[in-house]
Amino acid sequence: MTDHSFAFYGFAFFGIILARYFILAGGTHLLLYGTFSQATVTDEEPLLESSNKLAPPWKSIRRDIKLSVISSVVFALAAAAIVTAYELGITRLYSDVYEYPLWYLGVSYAIAIVLQDTYFYFLHRLFHHPLLFRWWHQGHHRSKQPTPWTSFAFDPPEAIVQSLFLVAIVFVIPLHFITVIAILITMTVWAVVNHLGLERLPVNFPHHWCSRWFTGPAHHAIHHHQYTLHYGLYFTFWDRQLGTQSPQYDREFIDR
Ligand SMILES: [Zn+2]
Ligand SMILES: [Zn+2]
Repeated sequence: MTDHSFAFYGFAFFGIILARYFILAGGTHLLLYGTFSQATVTDEEPLLESSNKLAPPWKSIRRDIKLSVISSVVFALAAAAIVTAYELGITRLYSDVYEYPLWYLGVSYAIAIVLQDTYFYFLHRLFHHPLLFRWWHQGHHRSKQPTPWTSFAFDPPEAIVQSLFLVAIVFVIPLHFITVIAILITMTVWAVVNHLGLERLPVNFPHHWCSRWFTGPAHHAIHHHQYTLHYGLYFTFWDRQLGTQSPQYDREFIDR
């Protein structure tokens, strides 16, 4: 890898992160609210009383985009810091795929995802503390009806805390670049899926087989309405262990 300046990496990553956001959130938005959206409207009774089937207002989407641009700056700086640290040889990132057994690619991916889920769950609960909520997390909750645009909309302090996980983990666990990219793709796609909004999903969306152990659009939509429930990122494990899982959710999506 040719060494570049921190500023070069910062700008390059900003472009990549922002393009990724607009392509994925914009593409998903078109699928949900575009010309063919009628096919995706559910005819089930909505779980949330205040939910409606109307497209969310552009005002809230614009607000989400503004925060996401700022989040892109934060994550670009974090990515530039990681690459610079790698070039200095002080991280545990590796580029030779045979440096560890091949199975380790999968195991290190699973460890990173479980750690990130745990990190997020406890910090997310902390962000909802009245002393922190206003400056650290309110931005993400401005959209009562989450959309794909909400997936990357964080107040700057929250974006910093989230990106610090990625900065920290490359110093702790040996990770191949392929694994890092797999983690980033999982993070991005999962965030968009979690913010699809319950109302726009097809009737046959597979809530039942996946929602016992994993979060998803229904699980996370409830968090956007009821702040005391559903703090999980990927898994429902901590919500179940610590009593922040909605019993109504289990009745509606799992037990029937
Ligand atoms: Zn929250
Ligand atoms: Zn959310």
